[in-house]
Amino acid sequence: MEQTNMDSFICASCKKEVHVQANNYQTYAARGFYCNDCYAIFANKLYEVNIPGAVTIFSPASALGDRVIYTAIHDAYMVDNPDENVLWLEMPQAMDVAEIARQTNAKKIFWADVTNFAPIPKNLDIVQFSIIREARNLGKLRGIFPKVENRADLDFEVPKKSVMLHARHCAKLDWKNMHHGEFISILNLLKGFTVYIVGNDEKYGFEDEIKDPQIVDLRKKLTIDQICTLAENVDACLGVDSGIQHLAGAANGKVIAYKYKNEHWMPIVADPQMAQAFGDKAVDFYNFLVATKKTLHLL
Ligand SMILES: [Zn+2]
Repeated sequence: MEQTNMDSFICASCKKEVHVQANNYQTYAARGFYCNDCYAIFANKLYEVNIPGAVTIFSPASALGDRVIYTAIHDAYMVDNPDENVLWLEMPQAMDVAEIARQTNAKKIFWADVTNFAPIPKNLDIVQFSIIREARNLGKLRGIFPKVENRADLDFEVPKKSVMLHARHCAKLDWKNMHHGEFISILNLLKGFTVYIVGNDEKYGFEDEIKDPQIVDLRKKLTIDQICTLAENVDACLGVDSGIQHLAGAANGKVIAYKYKNEHWMPIVADPQMAQAFGDKAVDFYNFLVATKKTLHLL
């Protein structure tokens, strides 16, 4: 690439030098010289903050993990904009944003990248944002992390030496599923532990193994609030990349998970010791087992 076509600036947040194509320079200048990782509108308050009495609309999230990540944005926004009327839309309202904006005379409309199940309304002044980028920067810059407060009682005592396990099984995304051999390896490691299996997955590819006496199969039996209680009380929350791990991390659970394609998607937690994430290769699975052993004092 020829140097003459490039320009550079120092990121306003992380202070790294960023090289950009000369014809993109004005775009970065217009948004205040933030690099792509640091351009976070809520963490850096890059919008008109706290308009008293104004209505502000946030587009909804659907998947569990997205909703958990969204809590950091919610908490930060409510702190920064105490005098606004903020509408946090629910999923079915995604198609009616234009109408809701008209009826409420909304001054600001924020549209999350995870509202990708609905078209972005045209002819409205909409500010788009990435929930992951926002949440990561809120944690880094302001110590605001995804948090889930609600809890509900379980109808059993969580014993010492217990883990929560989410193996997940999704036919559409096979590479993300825990495989049979991995499941057996994890069970072997966890001899003497009670293993609570959670989630709403229909069937794993290995239903017979789930009849193992150390396993308590709680699939489709717990509410979200009960999963939070369980996550907080077991020794570790194990499994693959899924919304359950985001929930566990936001509920003070100790998460160890693998099959992450990108570290950006690992649970966002205040204490890095509370969430360990690994990739989807054999070596990553090995490292996941080692981290599990260390965390559960099995070494
Ligand atoms: Zn930066």
